[in-house]
Amino acid sequence: PMGNSAAARDIASVLHPYTDLKAHQETGPLVITRGKGVRVYDDQGKEYIETVAGLWCAALGFDNERLVQAAVRQMRALPFYHGFTGRSHEPMIQLAEMLLERAPAAHGGRMSKVFFANSGSEANDTAIKMIWYANNAWGRPQKKKIIGRVRGYHGITIAAASVTGQAANHKAFDVPLPGFIHTMCPTYYHAGLPGETEEAFSARCAEELEKLILAEGPETIAAMFAEPIQGAGGVVVPPRGYFPAIQKVLRKYDILLVADEVICGFGRTGNYWGSQTYDIEPDILVCAKALSSSYLPISAVMVNERVFEALATKSHEIGTFGHGFTYSGHPVPAAVAIETLKIYDEIDIVGHVREVGAHFQAELRRRFHEHPLVGEVRGIGLIGAVELVEDREARRNFDPARKVGAKLVKIAEAHGLICRAMVLDSIGFSPPLIITKPEIDEMLDRFGRALDELAVQIRR
Ligand code: PLP
Repeated sequence: PMGNSAAARDIASVLHPYTDLKAHQETGPLVITRGKGVRVYDDQGKEYIETVAGLWCAALGFDNERLVQAAVRQMRALPFYHGFTGRSHEPMIQLAEMLLERAPAAHGGRMSKVFFANSGSEANDTAIKMIWYANNAWGRPQKKKIIGRVRGYHGITIAAASVTGQAANHKAFDVPLPGFIHTMCPTYYHAGLPGETEEAFSARCAEELEKLILAEGPETIAAMFAEPIQGAGGVVVPPRGYFPAIQKVLRKYDILLVADEVICGFGRTGNYWGSQTYDIEPDILVCAKALSSSYLPISAVMVNERVFEALATKSHEIGTFGHGFTYSGHPVPAAVAIETLKIYDEIDIVGHVREVGAHFQAELRRRFHEHPLVGEVRGIGLIGAVELVEDREARRNFDPARKVGAKLVKIAEAHGLICRAMVLDSIGFSPPLIITKPEIDEMLDRFGRALDELAVQIRR
């Protein structure tokens, strides 16, 4: 990168999230300047299909004018107001109503109220604090520990990072905090035993969970967090019967379940919620990302009646629910989210994902299942992954030091594709939900060429 280019200025000034900061001083950034539909363009004018919608989030693509207009209208009408001490405004009220109308069945009935934050991490931190607050209301302050899952991802603020079950988010940050524990990842591909059915594997996952609960003491455990499909952990799809088996254990010990729908919410899995796809009845539901198609930051925490009652009782006793962000329910992102949900209704987002998702899943398998570098192809709706392995028979991954996934991402870039490599060289797909069948074919054509080129490089 030379002189006063964007790349040189980036290297000189930006401390990047999720980046090898030292290497970046040499390699520099990929600077994106604009988007159209499922595509983005860099500062050299090169076009890419965005296979992960940015960060699993730009569901309506990169140029939706209605979302722009919704933001502009709201900025003119009321650019800022807040929800502290009972203040309110129309976008916050309407968005809460719309989310409750669309919410999945909750444990014990239905979702009762919505709290707004600005990111998935903040929403998960909020859920943890609500759970502790509720247990204080229920007179059992020692019931505090939080269970996450290996390879689970719930964000990076200190509590959310503690629930996250990925080494990169723990190493050198001194998390997890005490009291945050992790149960096994339900990866049937790697952890299923020879001859074991998916149902039997799910039962074993539930037994493992129960063992952990009993070892720690059920009276010390407050909640479990789970993504319907583990996204950033490599698109780990739950085996058949998994969540019903897990929920049975949690209910036995009165442990709350938080569904982290930050990736799976709003149609991604072919139902409005991942919870509906996998028979989850959460006590608390967290969503973000596609809530506003990520045009502006906003997240939400929905709580069921029982949790709300506890929060209400305790806050009355103390005098306030002492938690909230300046931007909780900010009117401009809320207005964009309202418009986003209206568009989802108008284009029948669930019907669309079912139709093009069936095509996507079939093509992903048809094209790559037999590829010599591919161990497993998995996914549902418009979320999927291709996992690269060194040995298909033994299901053995490449040595991480070879950075095979990162190599593929680099090659794919040259072929006009922005891809994402995750743990165990799993390449994730989560394109904008508006993607069409021809665009899916074009995306997978490009991916196939990149994969074949990787195979040639590896053989060398
Ligand atoms: N939860 C899940 C399932 C996520 O995938 C993410 C982000 O990728 C988060 C939480 C954290 O969200 P944020 O990056 O907005 O803090």
